[in-house]
Amino acid sequence: MSRYRPVDPGQSFPALEHRVLERWRERDVFHESVRRRRAEGAPRFVFYEGPPTANGPPGSHHVLSRVFKDVFPRYRTMRGHLVERKAGWDCHGLPVELQIERELGFQSKDDIERYGVAEFNAKCRQSVLTYIDEWNRLTERIGFWIDTDEAYFTLENEYIESVWWSLKQVWDKGLLTEGHKVVPYCTRCGTALSSHEVALGYRDVTDPSVFVRFPLEGEEGVSFLAWTTMPWTLLPHAALVVDPDATYVRARVGEETLILAESLLARVLGEEAEVVERVPGSGLLGLSYEPPFPYISDYGERGHTVLGGDFVSLEDGTGVVHTGAAFGEDDFRVATENGLTIHNPVRPDGTFDERAGPFAGLYVRDADAPIVEALRESGRLFGAGTYEHAYPHCWRCDTPLIYYAKTNWYVRTTERREDLLAANEAVTWYPQHIKHGRFGKWLENNVDWALSRERYWGTPLPVWRAEDGETVCVGSLAELRELGAEPPGDLHRPYIDEVSFERDGKTFRRVPDLIDVWWDSGCMPFAQWHAPFENEDVFRERFPADYICEALDQTRGWFYSLLAVSALLFGRSSYETVLCLGLILDTEGRKMSKSLGNVVVPWDVLDLHGADAFRWYYFTSKQPWDGYRFSVETVGESVRLLKTLWNTHALFVLYANLPERMEGGENDLDRWILSRLSATTAAAIERLDDYDTTSAGRAISEFVDDLSNWYARRSRRRFWRGEAAAFETLHTCLVTVAKLVAPLTPFVADEIYDNLDGAEPSVHLCSYPEPGERDRQLEWAMRVARDAVELGRAARAQARVKVRQPLREAVIVAADREREAIERFEALLLDELNVKSVRYVSQADELGRFELKPNYRALGPRFGKRMPQVAEAVAALEPDHAAATLREGGAVGINIDGKEHTLTPQDVQLVLRPLDGYQVERSGTHAVALGLELDDELRREGLAREVVHAVQAARKSAGLNVEDRISLTLGGDAELLDAARAHEDYVAGETLATSLSFDGAGSGSRPEIEGRELMIGVARA
Ligand SMILES: [Zn+2]
Repeated sequence: MSRYRPVDPGQSFPALEHRVLERWRERDVFHESVRRRRAEGAPRFVFYEGPPTANGPPGSHHVLSRVFKDVFPRYRTMRGHLVERKAGWDCHGLPVELQIERELGFQSKDDIERYGVAEFNAKCRQSVLTYIDEWNRLTERIGFWIDTDEAYFTLENEYIESVWWSLKQVWDKGLLTEGHKVVPYCTRCGTALSSHEVALGYRDVTDPSVFVRFPLEGEEGVSFLAWTTMPWTLLPHAALVVDPDATYVRARVGEETLILAESLLARVLGEEAEVVERVPGSGLLGLSYEPPFPYISDYGERGHTVLGGDFVSLEDGTGVVHTGAAFGEDDFRVATENGLTIHNPVRPDGTFDERAGPFAGLYVRDADAPIVEALRESGRLFGAGTYEHAYPHCWRCDTPLIYYAKTNWYVRTTERREDLLAANEAVTWYPQHIKHGRFGKWLENNVDWALSRERYWGTPLPVWRAEDGETVCVGSLAELRELGAEPPGDLHRPYIDEVSFERDGKTFRRVPDLIDVWWDSGCMPFAQWHAPFENEDVFRERFPADYICEALDQTRGWFYSLLAVSALLFGRSSYETVLCLGLILDTEGRKMSKSLGNVVVPWDVLDLHGADAFRWYYFTSKQPWDGYRFSVETVGESVRLLKTLWNTHALFVLYANLPERMEGGENDLDRWILSRLSATTAAAIERLDDYDTTSAGRAISEFVDDLSNWYARRSRRRFWRGEAAAFETLHTCLVTVAKLVAPLTPFVADEIYDNLDGAEPSVHLCSYPEPGERDRQLEWAMRVARDAVELGRAARAQARVKVRQPLREAVIVAADREREAIERFEALLLDELNVKSVRYVSQADELGRFELKPNYRALGPRFGKRMPQVAEAVAALEPDHAAATLREGGAVGINIDGKEHTLTPQDVQLVLRPLDGYQVERSGTHAVALGLELDDELRREGLAREVVHAVQAARKSAGLNVEDRISLTLGGDAELLDAARAHEDYVAGETLATSLSFDGAGSGSRPEIEGRELMIGVARA
């Protein structure tokens, strides 16, 4: 019976992962890992899930956030924390509605009303869960442990009630108010957007650029000149605005006189315009002029006169601003201050109403062209062109927004700006610069949260209004009942709209608005538990979160809504640490999109490389906030670590399952790798505590490399002999690495642990390793010895001498401590370099002679055409002496055309020409030379090794196990046979041959060695 399950070195990782998933399910490992910590009374590490929307299939960027949401909870659990992980789903909002509208072919809100709000919302409810199975399947497949059975849904009545409670809190503080303001507005969606939504949708567009005359009343031939990029706003033109402190001019151009700011004169009218008069802006105030269109005229006393404003740009336009009063924040303010009547002839769907005369019914932007045409006909158009600028679009449906005066509900976050900033101070950001950069600046420039949405599918605004305008905010279902109304079974529209109540003889009906879906998500810390109506203690114990993680763009999304809601309600941030993730791009740095055909579907990566490789790529290829440029192939490169680890595991099992065993003490190599293991453990803990998977992963990867390519390779003979200490050491290393890497690559880690240890049902139920003792002196010594080996190998490669060909000697430049270090590992070095002896020298000069070469880059500019003479002069220097001087930093002199010149070490390159028969490799002050001369004895030994190598290959292709004894027959080239005969014991020992004959009768393989034929007959003995 084997002690361990045999390991297939060619194991497919996706197949392995399915096996592990099965085991996790059977043993209920995730829940067990939580249960155990709960039973122990372990301290909590709180994680909040930022809820995704399941109305579309998950993409590769979702895998990114989900694996980062997994790795630290997994790690903290192993470190002794109780980490509960409640899943959640974001169910409301415009994207859901848009999808249904698209499905049903709807163009506007009217279509929805005709279809029926109840039916429409039923479809929305259904669609948010469309892909939930695929999400859950992917979540499990990538090893993201989260409680999907206990998930919260923002559409549930309980969740909505908690959100209502939060709004009532804000209401009671006087922070939830209605305001008539200019808001960014999407005409297609028929709703206002909050400032954080606007920030998501800027795009470059080309708009009309129009200069328009506004003829001064009572003075023939004199006009104000104003500029706009939105001609449609000229229809409801209310007033002109100038900067009272700026200088304006009357300028004559041809037959007419135009009034505009002096600083913009040349730019707008060119050099030939003649200044007739200079006037301060204040001198223009109150002047009347003719509006461009006659359709709306009753703007009040100051309508169609010149007003003063503090927002007039003197950098573009004309310094005379046309204002439509209702279509810009500043415009609205100045108009209100001056007592203007505000007209908004634009319907919520973006078309002009009947006040717009012949333009009634036109969509505002579609009216631009006919309006410019009308201005041209009436002689009002001075000039027209195009203008490119970044303009906000609806981030949901891509319609250009308009700014639009309307009534909205606001959460007055600006009143609590200081609280928001203070809350942010207590948060640790990864990367750090977001805190006072992107996010801090965002908070500093905070504007009130435009909360209401005139839509259908979302949390209803819990405000009821009487005929006389009195409003009541309802904070719970109980409160609604106290008011005499029965809450509907479904709190969504249209059912909630039917709920009304009487008070003080007045009927209160609900304000039909919904709230911004981002407010929903900001409420998840308490709403996921239906707190404070239930589970208040559960919420309090899990507030704030220790850790949250989402993409960088959530600084204007969830990171903001979470912080703002908690700062308003609880006076602090609801999270302590936040990790921001970068964008996912294709290998050429382009955004992934369906139209470019460069979208990487996560399933393709998972089926080909597996989840561990996918995770490892995200965790270690770079800092996660720097973004990724990837393809299915790129992820394949991260399979390397998994393969190395797996193969070392395979090697261990192969030898450990052999029956032979012998005692054998621990040696320096064992002590070294165990010390490296301690160092790696300490590094992994330090880095993962600091939310840095990149450095932790790289430290582990370097260790695995050391373990596989140095420790295990150098210990093969000991494994073969069955030395207990070697097995024990490798076993310890593999089991410990499995634990170290478990949070990052949970599948392969579990498989290795399960095979080699299995004391627990899973590696994820183990504690994270603690670092043991380190022997830094030993680690250093091994480093020095390995560096010497590296140089020696490079020298061999440079000389193109096969590794199997033994050489007489290696000469190593090393003195004192370094020499001692190498001597400690000399046996290992002899074997690695395949040399018979090592000689030490203290200076590189002893390995050859230095030749001097002029450094053309340094000397060229100095000597120009005389460089050939310089080269000659350098060549004529006495090389040993000059080299010694230059190496000590001194200078040497040369004479060119009778003039002395001084050359410094930067001016001359020292090239080491090795002694005859040697190959030298240098790196800094280190150097190793290999003697290349071969005698018959060395050559025979080299051939004998080639024979062994060929026999091993023959054994393998005959399907023999490593431990099988054979009878070996060799034939063929006489020289090869001679070599094998001369090293008969070695050949027999290495190939496990119990008998070796040279009669050449073998009928097996016939490899060629250096052009000589060898016949190999292998039979199980
Ligand atoms: Zn829209």
